[in-house]
Amino acid sequence: MDVAQIYKDSNALLEGHFKLSSGNHSSFYLQSAKVLEDPKTAKLLAQELAKQIKESGIKVDAICSPALGGLIAGFALATALDVRFIFAERVEGQMSIRRGFKVKENENYIICEDIITTGGSALEAAKQVEAHGGNIVAYAALANRGFCSRVGSTVETKENCKLPLDKPLFALDDFTFEMYSPENCPMCKQGSKAYKPGSRGN
Ligand code: ZN
Repeated sequence: MDVAQIYKDSNALLEGHFKLSSGNHSSFYLQSAKVLEDPKTAKLLAQELAKQIKESGIKVDAICSPALGGLIAGFALATALDVRFIFAERVEGQMSIRRGFKVKENENYIICEDIITTGGSALEAAKQVEAHGGNIVAYAALANRGFCSRVGSTVETKENCKLPLDKPLFALDDFTFEMYSPENCPMCKQGSKAYKPGSRGN
């Protein structure tokens, strides 16, 4: 499966001159929600991710996603694995599990995101599941930004990865874009101006 091509075809992988939320500049930007706009594509990607997880032999009882970003990917993965789906959400900045969702004692959970950058939200959701007595058996995402190492990839974990190293991360592909500080950005040097995705309706 050519995951990068699927992202491009869905306008989820943008090329240009972008200002990222970190303040760095990049010539690529992932608009992850766009790849899930077509349910057929969402289903296809989730089935491929589910295949990796099934092949690993890991026993999964449920998926938990951090809202908002992980909801669609998590639900699609839960559908492909035929397991329950719950989500964690931020209330006044604190990740919590609400809405009557029950984590049962010793149930095995995968935390699923659309994209793993440093994995901060995924880790917060995992801590909530564990606080309610559940086990975290793995992390999963459709795309991996390459800060955390995923199963089957040679990309090594960077120091800003927040995910625990003793749990596998399943993802379909690495999107390791070059990032530049504004002073060192080659596109800025050529006179182009970086823009923040979202500011032009994308
Ligand atoms: Zn720039």
